[in-house]
Amino acid sequence: MKHRSDLGRRGWTVGGNHAHMTTNVSDIPLARPDITEEEIDAVVAVLRTPNLSLGPKLGEFEQAMAEACQTDHAIAVCSGTAALHLIVRSMGIGPGDEVITTPFSFVASTNCMLFEGATPVFADVDPETWNIDPAAIEAAVTDRTKAILPVDVFGQPTDYDAIDAIAGKHGLRVIEDSCEALGSTWRGRPAGGLGDAGVFGFYPNKQITTGEGGMIVTSDEALARMCRSLRNQGRDTHGGWLSHPRMGYNYRLSDINCALGAVQVSRLDEIVKTRRAVAEWYRTELADETRLSMQRVLEPAFVSWFVFVVRLDDRYSREDRDNILRQLRDQGIGCSNYFVPIHLQPYMVEQFGFKEGDFPVCESLADRTIALPFHKEMTPESVKRVCDSLRELLA
Ligand SMILES: *Cc1c(COP(=O)(O)O)cnc(C)c1O
Repeated sequence: MKHRSDLGRRGWTVGGNHAHMTTNVSDIPLARPDITEEEIDAVVAVLRTPNLSLGPKLGEFEQAMAEACQTDHAIAVCSGTAALHLIVRSMGIGPGDEVITTPFSFVASTNCMLFEGATPVFADVDPETWNIDPAAIEAAVTDRTKAILPVDVFGQPTDYDAIDAIAGKHGLRVIEDSCEALGSTWRGRPAGGLGDAGVFGFYPNKQITTGEGGMIVTSDEALARMCRSLRNQGRDTHGGWLSHPRMGYNYRLSDINCALGAVQVSRLDEIVKTRRAVAEWYRTELADETRLSMQRVLEPAFVSWFVFVVRLDDRYSREDRDNILRQLRDQGIGCSNYFVPIHLQPYMVEQFGFKEGDFPVCESLADRTIALPFHKEMTPESVKRVCDSLRELLA
């Protein structure tokens, strides 16, 4: 396991926000990619060929993802954000159209509508599952609604029985932001394949990584063809390199990334198993802790776990939570708040006039979340150390 200790010595950490952590060997980082010699060899092998983009690894990775999600098509792109954008554009969603989504997510799940001039309409979340509340979706539907964009928060699929019923009743498309849910299922059906189209992101903190990267999965053939064209500058599969029937983007993913992704997805079962074990240690360790709660997992859901988040109860304020985050970091324990409500981000307030109190369930949750260290190198002992520190700070 040489590569792992190398990473530790360099103080490697996921994301720029936590650059001050992981400087001591005893530190516990928030997230860490699960990379083996097999991935390293696969990447190096691509570098020994002339096919660094649009080569054989692209199709290999796409095929593996389509199989994992039980969809007919998978289209690799350069990020999860690009994947969301291409779906919105391919569905012809634009100015005057509304898309209903959750404010408790990463900004990309709303930004993809803004890129196309469409209007995001937020529906508040369920206080226990932390996913978009189906009753709030129903209440937000108007004549202009074109789609629902649920997010499988922290890996738990949204209640797709309810989503399907609402979408069917109103003739809406469903874009599943499954970026946090690779390997999860709802009634045995893989996340990503639960709506008309699903997306994944492969930033290093996700279940599997390609460094940067994303994937669209769908069984809608026309949608798949359009996404494929738009990712490659609007080219058609059988047209020439300088023939562009439509305006597109360069959202391609290199074969170097795809080689890494293909090995990662081949290890998905093993990776999910490890993550579920760590989640179980946390859930057992914190089961009797009354000062916080954990995400309620609905019975039809199988969760691969993106991050492990606890919610402090209402006696703690956002300031209390922020103090606890700071003190955990001082003890070398990587942690983060997840998420800041999208509607309260400065650019959203400026454009749409949202204010505090607009989505109270989301806001109350967002003020009190703590994401705890969650990755392959966690042990029952390190989980206990994290929980002991947390319990002490709650007092
Ligand atoms: C990771 C993530 C994305 C995509 O992120 P990229 O950094 O663009 O790959 C989108 N939505 C959610 C909910 C995510 O967690």
